[in-house]
Amino acid sequence: MNKEFILKHLEPLSEIYGISGQEYLVAKYLHEVYKTYTDEIVYDQLGSIFAIKRSKKEHAKKVMVAGHMDEVGFMVKTITKTGCLTMHPVGGWFSQTLLGQRISVINRNGDVFKGAIASIPPHLLTEEDRKKPMEIKSMLVDIGATSKQEAESWGICVGDMMVLDGQFRQLHGQNRLLGKAFDNRYGCAMGIALLESLKDVELDFDLIVGATVQEEVGLRGATTSASLVSPDLAIVFDCSPANDASGDENAFGQLGKGVLIRFVDANMLPNRCMMHRLEQVCEEHEIPYQFYVSMGGTDAGAIHKHASGVPTVTMCICARNIHTNSSIVDVNDIVSAFNAARHYVSGLNEQLISDMISCNQ
Ligand SMILES: [Zn+2]
Repeated sequence: MNKEFILKHLEPLSEIYGISGQEYLVAKYLHEVYKTYTDEIVYDQLGSIFAIKRSKKEHAKKVMVAGHMDEVGFMVKTITKTGCLTMHPVGGWFSQTLLGQRISVINRNGDVFKGAIASIPPHLLTEEDRKKPMEIKSMLVDIGATSKQEAESWGICVGDMMVLDGQFRQLHGQNRLLGKAFDNRYGCAMGIALLESLKDVELDFDLIVGATVQEEVGLRGATTSASLVSPDLAIVFDCSPANDASGDENAFGQLGKGVLIRFVDANMLPNRCMMHRLEQVCEEHEIPYQFYVSMGGTDAGAIHKHASGVPTVTMCICARNIHTNSSIVDVNDIVSAFNAARHYVSGLNEQLISDMISCNQ
């Protein structure tokens, strides 16, 4: 597997519009790609999508590989009489990243309207006001409409999705990528890369690879997807925050230092045997890895609590500036995570899966 294959999918995936609850354009893309690998594609009833690669074995165990496909964004909250839109945030935002940004509004017919988040020119601000951050509820999106009637005549309604523009770029030096929604179109691209790399491999278990909805608003698609799949084991891909740019070598999440072995976060303690095996796989194949602690969580937080419990581990990468339209990842981390996932999954068998299930007994 070369990195070009992953980038070939990561680039378009990162640019697709898909906030929580409105992920259908991402799902369409994934469906097109999945069907080149399998005839069996399933959905949960919230919109999460999975491709099933069946084992020839009867009563095979099920391994679920998931990454969420929703991104943070906004919904149109109101339309003002001047034709501007107010914003309702979907997912976590830091208001200081927003003023003056270019944004796209996508109406229910799929028409795209370009605009900007309005910012008061410095000339019109007092010295005092310039120091104050503006709250999202006070911000206006200007799409060039001159009245409420005009905006409505364009088919724009309350609830329509709004996404900050974020063109994919390979930065000078080639290894660093700039774009929006690497959290978590990274995970979507990884799923495709895994299917591609295992397409001619017979597995001892059913492999169910896909993408969940509504992670950013509380792991909702992960909950319903786990019910759909009923996995025996799960692997979750996600993109976690890095805060290493200032040079703090002790900060968790260093760009370019490899796949994250997340040993604790706010909503999951990974299955120890799965986590130790991830470390072992990385050591054996000389794959760069780093230990990671997070105050946040991933879909794993919901999946591992499904039914009587699902042994779960995450294979994340870190990114700078996540939850903005200018996140930065290192392509070598993606390659590390992919190699770890490929070796991990291809080396699994029924015995190992049973061992992991009984790991904490
Ligand atoms: Zn995420």
